[in-house]
Amino acid sequence: MRVIDYPEYRVWRSMKDRCFRAKSSVFKYYGGRGITVCDRWCHSFYTFLSDMGRAEGRTLDRIDNDGPYSPENCRRATRHEQAQNKRNNRYVDVDGRRVAASEAARLLGIAPWTILRRLDANLPPDSRPPQRLRKTHCKQGHPFSGENLYIRPNGAQKCRACAVVMKARWKQKRDAQLVLSH
Ligand SMILES: [Zn+2]
Repeated sequence: MRVIDYPEYRVWRSMKDRCFRAKSSVFKYYGGRGITVCDRWCHSFYTFLSDMGRAEGRTLDRIDNDGPYSPENCRRATRHEQAQNKRNNRYVDVDGRRVAASEAARLLGIAPWTILRRLDANLPPDSRPPQRLRKTHCKQGHPFSGENLYIRPNGAQKCRACAVVMKARWKQKRDAQLVLSH
């Protein structure tokens, strides 16, 4: 088998291209970001092949997205696993600067998973969700208005009619327990 007959050979070549060939269209995401290929692999396709094994439909995946192509930082992943991993290492634009989603979360002062959820929904990372509409009635159908509405210090709406029923139920239960204890 000639070296060019190995599908892994193309993977090895494109890995080196991404990291070392400045004219590569994706160089900025790899070599341009300081991603390298370890010496061990850089000079020998066969060493790369024996370290990582045959691909068998799996892709070459770096564990640390900022780390090098090396036996310690690479694994074989299925397409699904790699997509999962990429999801956590996505890049977004914040104030015209391209940063990792985790960094964007830090800059915007919001949780990383909030950013990822917005990206999944094709929303800008700093978009705010629409204000949730306030309910007009409680679960039992009493109106959240006028005398019946009580607003807790935390802003939660409470129904006075339901509160009265709950209190009566609680009293009933307590009286029953008092009877039992006599
Ligand atoms: Zn109610």
